[in-house]
Amino acid sequence: MRGSERIAESFGDDVWNQIDDVFHRVTREVVEYAESVENPVLVLEDLTYIRESMDYGDFMNRRLHGWGFAKLHAQIRYKAVEKGIPVETVNPRNTSKECHACGEVGYCPRQATFKCTNDACWMGEYQADVNGAINIADRYLSGESRFREHENDDDSAEDGGR
Ligand SMILES: [Zn+2]
Repeated sequence: MRGSERIAESFGDDVWNQIDDVFHRVTREVVEYAESVENPVLVLEDLTYIRESMDYGDFMNRRLHGWGFAKLHAQIRYKAVEKGIPVETVNPRNTSKECHACGEVGYCPRQATFKCTNDACWMGEYQADVNGAINIADRYLSGESRFREHENDDDSAEDGGR
């Protein structure tokens, strides 16, 4: 029996169906948003690395999150394919731990907040999910380089809401 089935059993189908509904709603929004921009590419973290990049110490959490990522990605992929939107993957190593501006490994003083520990860096605190998303985009755009190529302070990242 697969881990996800075991988890589903212990929670019951109702909860699982609710999660599934949420996933569908979220992935539909992701793909709809992608459709609204010119030449969209959806970039996902490569799931073959996900186990080693997980912060969660607990085995069950790891299984649960791994299952969630796999399901989200599968839904994004097939919805994107329907719309003809390409889907790419990048190595997710430290995408949530590195500062998108300078590459320093920082930390999260609060949930949803990323803090850069590099005193010379302008960033200070940043919305954690946005920081991770910018790292993913940067990796896609520049291979594994985490440094942005333009120095002209294009702060399009700064208003990067959700
Ligand atoms: Zn920084």
